[in-house]
Amino acid sequence: MGTTWGTTTIFLRLFYRVQRVCKYIFIFFKLKREYPYELKKIHRFIVMKFALHNGERKEAEINLKGAVCQVCKAEVIAKCGDVKIHHWAHKSKRKCDHWWENETKWHRDWKNQFSKDWQEVVHSSETGERHIADIKTPKGLVVEFQHSPIKPEEILARNTFYKNIIWIVDGKRRKYDEKKFKEVIDPTSGAWEFWYYSPLLRDWSRIQKPVFFDFGGPKLYVVFEGEIKDFDKVDFIEAVKMGGNGKTLLHLLKEKTKIAKIKDEYVRNSIKEKKEKRTFASVRKRGY
Ligand SMILES: [Zn+2]
Repeated sequence: MGTTWGTTTIFLRLFYRVQRVCKYIFIFFKLKREYPYELKKIHRFIVMKFALHNGERKEAEINLKGAVCQVCKAEVIAKCGDVKIHHWAHKSKRKCDHWWENETKWHRDWKNQFSKDWQEVVHSSETGERHIADIKTPKGLVVEFQHSPIKPEEILARNTFYKNIIWIVDGKRRKYDEKKFKEVIDPTSGAWEFWYYSPLLRDWSRIQKPVFFDFGGPKLYVVFEGEIKDFDKVDFIEAVKMGGNGKTLLHLLKEKTKIAKIKDEYVRNSIKEKKEKRTFASVRKRGY
């Protein structure tokens, strides 16, 4: 009898422990689903390519001591490992530029297409708000490279803050983004009516600034004023370099032939949009 009770107690204790662990795992995933952006931003050291050393912008080197962050002026330390790209890291997990996204290789490859003086430039508004632009040309055009998920409100806030801004979005972050994007814009099938089917277009097609999608190839796909066009990367880089005020780029954008058009009435009319969502859902049900 004693042994049975003993075993039962052990089992019960084990059961409760497993139950508690499951509860925490459940809460974690629930939070992760509901607050993906917030969770990403907690518990990380903010790292940057440039920091101020004796008032000069410097890249990270092992022996450089006493450098400070360009935005918050907090102390940063050089991280120069063999595997990761060299960078400056904030000494503490403090709040710096909350818009800042830590660099990936994709970011750095893009930034390196432009002069060092144009990279990671602090931009201040009239109210004294300060943020770092990935690329800012001498004529004031800001290019933001976006890899991580971003809230629509933040996109809007950045557009208002920088005004003269264009976006480059990493189209390779999610597995099916490129496939779905290209399915939607295929002009022969007319499938572009289902733009809502592509997560990239859903997130980015309604912002008022030019957005370029980079799928890793030699071409960029640009969404501007409801139209999708393709654009050679080389041309793009040249245009940014030449027309630092963005006018050359806009001119080029207007000249390019469109390869698809996003249906505008769905963008403007929410009722029609809902209808479109329904159509989309029914199409998906049929195995589109
Ligand atoms: Zn900082």
